[in-house]
Amino acid sequence: MLERLSVNDRLTTLYNYSYFVDRLREEIKRAERHRYPLSLIMLDIDHFKEFNDTFGHLKGNLFLTKLAKSIKQQVREIDTVARYGGEEFAVLLPSAGDEAIKVAERIRKVVEEMEFEGDALQPKVKKTISAGLATYPSDATDDTDLVVKADEALYWAKESGRNKVCVYSRDIRSQDTEFSS
Ligand code: GH3
Ligand code: MG
Ligand code: MG
Repeated sequence: MLERLSVNDRLTTLYNYSYFVDRLREEIKRAERHRYPLSLIMLDIDHFKEFNDTFGHLKGNLFLTKLAKSIKQQVREIDTVARYGGEEFAVLLPSAGDEAIKVAERIRKVVEEMEFEGDALQPKVKKTISAGLATYPSDATDDTDLVVKADEALYWAKESGRNKVCVYSRDIRSQDTEFSS
């Protein structure tokens, strides 16, 4: 019962998936009402399985906690940071406009420079993340569509080499045009 009522992920203390889903729906309504854009960044650690396999699951958990804290530090008070899944994070940015791209890029760059705890042989480990960005209403029709589009952008960031931010409106549509022409 308490578990169900809880809105925070126990490992990272970020908002959990179910809170995110509710909040996303609310934020869409609010964006609609006040006529501002709502951006969503989906982030995923690059080759995280490899980190777990090398340093163990507990070090992997430490990694997730440190990463979560860093993401939180780089966004505004009004933004929502959630643990979307195992090693996937979602950031909701109301009325951010072009700032949303800058935020995603900044998170990517900061993570690239970060050092995570490894083992005696390799105490400091560097890893990267990939991110996808989509914005309502320019890229998506509703809450679920916004997740689909941000996910699509994330998928493209992975496909095109990782350690990248892909923006749905900028990078995916031009891809579509290339494919169809
Ligand atoms: P990609 O660059 O394509 O994202 O590769 P990846 O290895 O990150 O992706 P994959 O989906 O193969 O592996 C994700 C890994 O994340 C596997 C899983 O063990 C790990 N993971 C998910 N949740 C947790 C967690 O709570 N703790 C730890 N330590 N690892 C987790
Ligand atoms: Mg993943
Ligand atoms: Mg991953």
